[in-house]
Amino acid sequence: MRKRWMTVLLAATCWMTACGGATQHGQLTRMSAAEGAVALCEHEVPAAVCTRCNPAFEAKFKESGDWCPPHKRPESQCLLCHPTLKFEPLPELPAEADYAEIAVADGGKPIESFASPGKVTLVDFYANWCAGCQNVETELRKLLAADPAVAVRKVSVTDWESPAVAAHLSEIAGLPYVVVLGRTGKVLGAVQGFDEATFAAKLAAIRATEP
Ligand SMILES: [Zn+2]
Ligand SMILES: [Zn+2]
Repeated sequence: MRKRWMTVLLAATCWMTACGGATQHGQLTRMSAAEGAVALCEHEVPAAVCTRCNPAFEAKFKESGDWCPPHKRPESQCLLCHPTLKFEPLPELPAEADYAEIAVADGGKPIESFASPGKVTLVDFYANWCAGCQNVETELRKLLAADPAVAVRKVSVTDWESPAVAAHLSEIAGLPYVVVLGRTGKVLGAVQGFDEATFAAKLAAIRATEP
């Protein structure tokens, strides 16, 4: 089962990245994010952080593990690997937001145990090489800001051996993957993948199924 997921996960990486070297991927940090009206350079990334325009910036990206060796640019600037990459900074997490990271060791526990009682809990399975997962994070933060009845639990599956993989993802086609738990902790549904035009509506439709 684990082996199958590993294949799926690698396939998902390639599917999202369109470049063969799945195992060589670095981390997608937020180091290439830029505020406000962003001026893009000829490489279609924010001019202020582009390492091809400013080779002196390479070192700090490499130090952070944010580097794509096959394309010799930061992972967070590699549009070849991540065509849907965005450079807007993450929306601010509201101070009162019900938002928490599940410890890796707890990732295999029953999904209902991740629920925040009385709230709709969105359990977000993500990995730090997954550009779609960053887009999901942006959407979830918007939801948290708009609706105090929503809670978010983050489950990192960067490590194939993490208990979350065998327990919750063996049948899943790839990341991102968000499970919606109702106010009583019951699973209402899930959204796999990220499509900017439909993601929020899919979540809303699943929430609407709760009586
Ligand atoms: Zn450039
Ligand atoms: Zn690349």
